Amino acid sequence: MNSTGYGDLLGKITAGADWIIADRLGIEPIDPQAWSLVQDALRAWTAHPERLHAGDPQTIEHLFEGLIMAGVAMQISASSRPASGSEHRFSHLWEMQALGHGHPAIPHGYKVGIGTIAAAALYERVLARDLTEIDIDARCRAWPGRAEVERMVRQGHDIPQLAENAVEETLAKYITAEQLRERLLLIQARWPAIRAELERQLMTADQLRGLLEAAGCPTDPEAINITEAQLRESYWLARTIRSRYTVLDLVYETGVLDACVEELFAPGGAWS
Ligand SMILES: [Zn+2]
Repeated sequence: MNSTGYGDLLGKITAGADWIIADRLGIEPIDPQAWSLVQDALRAWTAHPERLHAGDPQTIEHLFEGLIMAGVAMQISASSRPASGSEHRFSHLWEMQALGHGHPAIPHGYKVGIGTIAAAALYERVLARDLTEIDIDARCRAWPGRAEVERMVRQGHDIPQLAENAVEETLAKYITAEQLRERLLLIQARWPAIRAELERQLMTADQLRGLLEAAGCPTDPEAINITEAQLRESYWLARTIRSRYTVLDLVYETGVLDACVEELFAPGGAWS
């Protein structure tokens, strides 16, 4: 229970990064009070996973404080945004797939932990790029219409109820090619500042992997019954199950998703 709680708490690192993006792009403003409750002491709460694993009372107290504060933050903002971002999209996707296929349940925090590594690894590939150089005209020309989006999402999910829900959530955040142009112009203009903030907020996938291992959490997707092919596919499917804007949307809209995922699974990549 301690290690699965730890995995969920550590996910607030990428959840915070996703909220920064959504705020700076004018999509979902940061609630300063909720942000503080979760983020101000997050590094301290998660700093000593090895002690947690050994059952140290003070460290367990920190874990509980963190999880309770995340709960309070969700209450005061009437949203799970302060505590849930792209890492939870991975986790929830895998939860629903396991349910739909009748596979055994895995503790939530273990999936969030690996989702956090997955999201942080993606952030590394994004931060290695210069998003001020996006070819906006080409992106807008290639942008799919609503019907095409619905077709792709339906095709991506093999569980009918999940597909139905994903279509609804994805269309709820659908933007037109004209709106995409505005969004990409904003990303171009604000990227240098956003990137600097993301670098301050994030940890590397390797750092997160080390912390999770020390807490006794699995860090290998296979340990939670996720195959390599499933993980690879999750990088686009996870975006579809919720209307909330995260780094998964940023890479999709800027057109770098496929290249980032290629790098993650290539030799030397985070999932090679
Ligand atoms: Zn959670």
